[in-house]
Amino acid sequence: MQKNVVCRSCDLTVSITQIKKHYDCICPRCGRKLLSNNLVKEGDVAIVAFAALIFLFISIIEPFMSISAMGTGAAMSLNSIVSILNKQWGLLLYVFLFFTFFAPVSVLALIVFIGGFRLKPNIFLAKFYQFNHGMCMVDVFVLGIVVSLIKLTALADVTFYVGFYTTFIFSVLMIWCCLKFNPSILWEKIKKQSELKLIAGKSAMSQSYKVCQECGYVFKANDDIDLCPRCKSKVTYRRKNCISKSLALLLSALILYLPSNLYPVMYTEFIGSNTGSNIIEGVIEMWQMNSYFVSFVILLASIFIPAFKIISMLFILYATKYSKIVVNKRVSRLYRFVLFIGRWSLIDVYVVIIMSSIVKIGNILNIEPGFAIICFCSVVIITVFSAEAFDERLIWNKG
Ligand SMILES: [Zn+2]
Ligand SMILES: [Zn+2]
Repeated sequence: MQKNVVCRSCDLTVSITQIKKHYDCICPRCGRKLLSNNLVKEGDVAIVAFAALIFLFISIIEPFMSISAMGTGAAMSLNSIVSILNKQWGLLLYVFLFFTFFAPVSVLALIVFIGGFRLKPNIFLAKFYQFNHGMCMVDVFVLGIVVSLIKLTALADVTFYVGFYTTFIFSVLMIWCCLKFNPSILWEKIKKQSELKLIAGKSAMSQSYKVCQECGYVFKANDDIDLCPRCKSKVTYRRKNCISKSLALLLSALILYLPSNLYPVMYTEFIGSNTGSNIIEGVIEMWQMNSYFVSFVILLASIFIPAFKIISMLFILYATKYSKIVVNKRVSRLYRFVLFIGRWSLIDVYVVIIMSSIVKIGNILNIEPGFAIICFCSVVIITVFSAEAFDERLIWNKG
C-alpha cells in the first residue's frame, strides 16, 4: 500500500510503500525519522506503565539508602528528601518535583487509561500528554543520583535498600514506555490523517499544503493563517519572526551564562566553616580527589554542553538568515542534536539537590544552594525554549 507523508523537519513529501518489521523510515533529504514499524501493542505498553507506577509507589514509601559518617547515620526515602527540602528550596523544589514526579506520573497514568482501558482522548488530553511526554527527566535524574553517590562515597559509607533498586527499575520501565507510546498515537485516535494527494519529492508548501507543528496533521491551506482541523491551533506555512524570537532568547541565555559559572553553585558548611564553590572549583576538587568520572560528567554537562548549545544555535540562526548554507543536511542534524542534548545539562542541578538533601538527612555537613544554580537553571531552560522557537524548515527553504 502506498502512502504519502510530509517530513516535519524539511517539508519534503515522501512516498512510502512498505516498512519491514523493526525498521524505521528515514527522510531521504534531512535524515529525520518519519515512521517506524513498531509492533508493541498498546495494551502491553499499558501493563508495563502500570508496573512502573507500582515500582514508583514502592520507591516513595520504602527507604532508599542509609549513610553513616563519624558515628552518626540515618536511613532516607524519596519522601523524606521532599519534606526536608521544602523549607529552603521553594520554587526550585517544585521545578524538580514537576520534572521527576508530576510529568512521569501523568504520562504513565494516561498510558494506562488510554492504552489499557481504551479511554478516548480529547484535544486537551493529547496536548497535556504531549507536553508532559517532552518534560520527563527521569533518565537525567538517575544519572544525577549516580554522580551524587560517587561524590558521597568519598565522604561517608552508603548502604542501599529496596527503594534504591525500585527507583532504577521504575526509570528503565518509564523510558521504555515513553519511547513506545508517542504523542502521535493519541493524535491519530482523535482524527486520522486523511490520504494525501501530493507529489512525492516536492515540498508540501509548494503544493499549498500545511503541516500543523503542534500535532503533525497535514491539510490543504485555504488562507494565510488556518486552524488545524485536528487540534485547532493556528497554522502558518512557516513560523513568523522565529529567527528574531530565538535570537532574543539566546542572548538572554548568554548573559546568564557568565554568572552561572562565576558565582558559587553551592555552599558547604563543615564544622563551623562555610565555603562556597562554583562549577569550575567543584570540577577541580573532584579531579584532585581522583573522581575522574564525576568531574568529567560535571564539566561536560555544566560547561561544555550549554556553551556548545549557545554557539550552535547562533551558527544555525546566522546560516539560515543569510542563506549561506551549503550543507543543509548537517545543519539540520546539528539542530536536532541541540534539541536532544538540551535536557542533559540539568544534571548539575539534580546533583546539588540530591547532595544537599542526602547530607542534611545524615547530619554530616550542611550544603545550601548558591545563586548560580538559579542562573544555571535559567540558562538551560531558556536555551531549550530558544531551540524550540526556531522553525527547522527554514533551513531548507525560506517562508
Ligand atoms: Zn526531511
Ligand atoms: Zn494540529
